[in-house]
Amino acid sequence: MERTLVLIKPDAVKRGLVGEIITRFERVGLSLEEMKIVNATTEIVEQHYPDDKNWIRSVGKKTLDTYQKYNLNIVEDLGTDDALEVGNLIRRWLIHQITSGPIIAIILSGNHAIEVARKIVGNTVPLFAELGTIRGDFSIDSPDLSTKEKRALQNLIHASATIEEAKREISLWFEV
Ligand code: GDP
Repeated sequence: MERTLVLIKPDAVKRGLVGEIITRFERVGLSLEEMKIVNATTEIVEQHYPDDKNWIRSVGKKTLDTYQKYNLNIVEDLGTDDALEVGNLIRRWLIHQITSGPIIAIILSGNHAIEVARKIVGNTVPLFAELGTIRGDFSIDSPDLSTKEKRALQNLIHASATIEEAKREISLWFEV
């Protein structure tokens, strides 16, 4: 039995997708252990997405890769093609996005809950997420569009990626 943390982000709450998203986790057999509506503070979101250079660089790289794939010029949009600088901008947009409205924080449990939840959520980039996943079914956002609009990807949901991340995030959002 494993536990994982899911956040239903403000874009999904605003679109009325909370029930649909929870149904998908329940349908596969994961159990709801804890759930609450939160107006997240900047402080908690800064801890959730820590100021970690490796992670920030990898987020920036995703945007650079998409620009390259579609032959677009990121310097025109952001004035830089440095992965760390791009990643830092995205982290700032992300903190703004998660604090822009109510979110739902959930602890799910079940067999390989972390891997199963990530499978149901799908690829970080909705444009590349498979149909049948939450991100693939409910969004067509992409890093080039979100960068032009100077905002984080609207990909509806967060789910912990590893056992360590799940432990850290569960104790950040819940007193359990
Ligand atoms: P996740 O674990 O699949 O959510 O992906 P990451 O931890 O890599 O990224 C965290 C969040 O940052 C994502 O869920 C997106 O909301 C946002 N994000 C990630 N990559 C990009 C990107 O390339 N461009 C923009 N604008 N936002 C991104």
